[in-house]
Order: sequence, then C-alpha cells, then structure tokens
Amino acid sequence: MSKIVLQLIDGQWRESHSKELIEVTDPATQQVLALAPKATHEEIEMAIASAKLAFLSWREVPVSERARLMLRYQHLLKEHHDELAEILAQETGKTFADAKGDVWRGIEVVEQAANIASLMMGETVENVARGIDTASWIQPLGVCTGITPFNFPAMIPLWMFPLAIAAGNTFILKPSEQDPLTPNRLAELFIEAGAPKGVLQVLHGGREQVDTLLTHPDIRAISFVGSVPVGQHIYRTGTAHLKRVQAFAGAKNHMVIMPDANKEQVLSNLVGASCGAAGQRCMAISVAVFVGASKDWIPELQAQLAELQPGYWNDPHAAYGPLISQHAKQRVQRLISEGKAEGAECLLDGSHCTVPGYPNGNWLGPTLFRAVTTKMGLYREEIFGPVLVCMEVDSLEEAILLVNASPYGNGTSIFTSSGGAARHYQHEVEVGQVGINVPVPVPLPFFSFTGWKGSFYGDLHAYGKQGVRFYTETKTVTSRWFDDSAVVGPNMTIHLK
Ligand code: NAD
Repeated sequence: MSKIVLQLIDGQWRESHSKELIEVTDPATQQVLALAPKATHEEIEMAIASAKLAFLSWREVPVSERARLMLRYQHLLKEHHDELAEILAQETGKTFADAKGDVWRGIEVVEQAANIASLMMGETVENVARGIDTASWIQPLGVCTGITPFNFPAMIPLWMFPLAIAAGNTFILKPSEQDPLTPNRLAELFIEAGAPKGVLQVLHGGREQVDTLLTHPDIRAISFVGSVPVGQHIYRTGTAHLKRVQAFAGAKNHMVIMPDANKEQVLSNLVGASCGAAGQRCMAISVAVFVGASKDWIPELQAQLAELQPGYWNDPHAAYGPLISQHAKQRVQRLISEGKAEGAECLLDGSHCTVPGYPNGNWLGPTLFRAVTTKMGLYREEIFGPVLVCMEVDSLEEAILLVNASPYGNGTSIFTSSGGAARHYQHEVEVGQVGINVPVPVPLPFFSFTGWKGSFYGDLHAYGKQGVRFYTETKTVTSRWFDDSAVVGPNMTIHLK
C-alpha cells in the first residue's frame, strides 16, 4: 500500500482524515510513490489557529535567535543535500544534477534569511523637528501562507518560509500536490533545526484548500508561484479579501540573437536554456529571435538539439527527464500538433519519444519550430515542455518590439558582442530579468526576483530585502523625550502605515 503524505499541523506530523487522495507518481515509470491528501476544513482551521497562537510568542524571539535557527537549518540542508535531491529527482523526474541545483538554490535563500537582522533594520532621523526624533521599525505581519508549483519543489518553498519566519511571522505552506515529498522533507529538517511548534505548518491539497487559505480572515499575506490563470485567481481572490498578495506566474522568455554574437556560445546556451529540465522552468528560453544573418545558424541548432536524449534521473547521460505528468505531456503534444496545423514548420518533433527501459515515462524529445507567427498557439501559450520556437527579424528594434508586445515579462536575454546593442536592449526591453550573453538570468537571493507584466501580480518582489519587506510592515515612531522622562512621554505619536 502506498504511503500517505503526512501534514505538519500544530507541531506534529499527522495523517489526514480526508478520504480524497491524490497519487504522487514517478513520472518516468508511473509508479505510485505516495498519496497526498486534500486537507479537510478542520485540519486547515487547526493549522491556522496554531500558527496564529505561535505568532504571539515567535515574534518576541530575539532576531539573533531567529537567525541562528536559519544557520542550523542551512547546515542541515547542506548535510542532507543529496538525500533531498534524490527524493526530488524521483518525484519530479529531474536529472540528479538538476535536482541538486534545485536544492542548492533554496539553500542560498536560507543563507539570506540567516542575515535577517540586517534585512530588518529600520531608519532613523534625529531632530525631525526641534527635540523630536523619528524611527521606523520593521515588524512581522502574522500568519503568512505560500502556495508553490511542481517545478521547483525545494527552491520555491525555500524562497518563502525561511524569510517569512526569520522576519518573525508564522507560515503555512501548501506545496504542489504533484511533488509534496520534497517539501515535507524540507519541513522535517526545519523542525530538526529547532523550529518551535506552530511556526511552520504544511497542508496538502489543491484548489479548495488554497481557496480556504485565500479567504481566511487570519491569513495576512499570500505568496504564490505557478501558472497565469491560477496566479490571477490567487491575486484577485486574495486582494478581494484585503490580503497582501505576491503572485509569480507563467512566462514566455525570448532570447535575441544578434549576428555579431559568438555562434558556439549561442547554440550551446540555447540548447540548455530551452530543453533543460524538459523546458519546465519559468525562466526557460522558449522563443529564439534570430536577428538578420544569425538565422543561418538554425540548421546547426537543429543538429545540436537532435542530439539530446531524455532519461531516468540517475542516468548521468540524460539531458533532461520526463514531463511531470501524462496530462502535461498530452498538453504539449496537442500544442505541437496544433502548431503544425497552423502552418509552423516543424524541424524536430519530439512528440513520440521513447526511452529504453521506461516505456511508461512522460517523455518528450526536443522539438524545434520555425516560421512561427505571433498569432499561433505555439507563440501565445506557455508550452512548458522541451519545445523551442524560432522567429526571424531584420533588426534589433524589431526584436525589441516583438518582445515588448508579449504579455509576459519574466526573463529575456540577448547574445551579442556589441556593448551598444546590449545596453540598448537592456534599457528598452520591458522584462524584469535580463541576461546579456547569459541565457537564464536568475538573480541570486540578495536581489529581487522581478517578473513584469503578466508574469507577476502584486507588489514587492520576492527574495532578499524585498522578500522580507513583503512579509513585514513598517512602523514609524516619532518621539519627543523630556529631560525627566523615564518612559515614553505623552507627546509620542505612532503612525501605522
Ligand atoms: P499551477 O498554477 O497549476 O499550480 C501552482 C499551485 O497552485 C499548486 O500548489 C496547486 O495546487 C495550486 N492550484 C492549482 N490550481 C489551482 C486553482 N484553480 N486554485 C487555487 N490553487 C490552485 O502551476 P504548476 O503547473 O504547478 O507550475 C508551473 C507554472 O508555474 C508555470 O506556469 C511556470 O511558469 C510557473 N512558475 C513561475 C515562476 C515564477 O517565478 N514566475 C517560477 C516557477 C514556476
């Protein structure tokens, strides 16, 4: 019998009373690894009540102690790095190298959270008026929640709860129902690091569970990462219930290839950025925009992509793994066949890919299209598979117009040897994260993660200082002290922003 995925509620790992269970499968074999429950209403209420109670004492814990918890957690995560990567690789299908990267990028955020005292420093000005000083304090909000996608089950939960908790909040994590085993292990290690009861809770489920969190009066802030339609739903519902919401959504990232770029660099980077992790990255390059004569490189790109072979997570020769589910694979297959029907030229078709020894895996081979127009589904929809679409334009200006007309704005890159072209692109492009001769420009945690347009809804981007600011409130205290005042005098005013 498959094991039931436990939930962390009020400091204890508990089996859900829910009868509704979701299969967690190995996407390379369809073997059922576990069954994830859909948390019951009572379980969600219990978790929120516990988090609310824990907040009262957790917010009073000195900031250096909260930082030390993060140091211990960082140490444990490093110690269990490969074990976590193995759990992650099994339930997502990612190659082991890729899975290790997923865990590592999360550890970097925990390191940032260990720096919480500096991130929470306020500001002061003496003598704003004669004898009156003003100071601003950064204070935690209360119970925060995080709803995370399947594609980075270590990194993305770790974007959220360590920063929120280090800042003095308590947190309810609702990870993706497709790969809940990695987040559960992350939470186990957090408890082992010494997190007090109630500070972190983990609930499982899907839409109904999320909706209860979005509308609950005791939840103050919601972090979400996932697809565009769900991101819009989260943003609309959360803000309609007057909560602070930060929703990171889908993407369609363009790489602009100038004819003066280094061809070898372009091709090898483009192959990895488009098909790495089977294209299931919000920062994957899914559109290659060839400017002028660089389009002559498309046949070589095709040849290099054709070499890629997906495989099982522990196969060191596998370029990438399977798609997360049969449903995801069928969706990409549909988009590929619709693209052909719409008149796009398919140079490589990975729809019917097989991997010896794994007949039931959700495999897709590398797929390449050219002669694609902006009206086609291949261009408009986020495919989230190993599919690269080539567009051809005559000038950098035309490339910029194309990218800026896209409703998404998560990431983009330009490959060129011209400083002027790079500077112009960086300045003009309406995208949050720009790489210059770097294919996937994901910033390290001390910078914000800054999707634009339809790739981000809300305010205050995640990570680093901005991430902490999302989970905190600023309180400005203006005070006048009299010579004989032992305590705050009657002229002290407090403005809550
Ligand atoms: P998803 O939107 O299907 O699910 C994300 C989370 O929302 C899951 O926890 C899921 O249980 C929950 N959910 C699903 N449907 C819901 C609904 N109707 N109401 C409320 N909650 C619901 O996303 P996914 O398929 O797990 O992840 C892939 C998507 O995430 C891609 O679109 C990708 O671009 C995006 N993503 C974005 C970023 C970013 O930083 N912008 C990073 C990683 C992934």
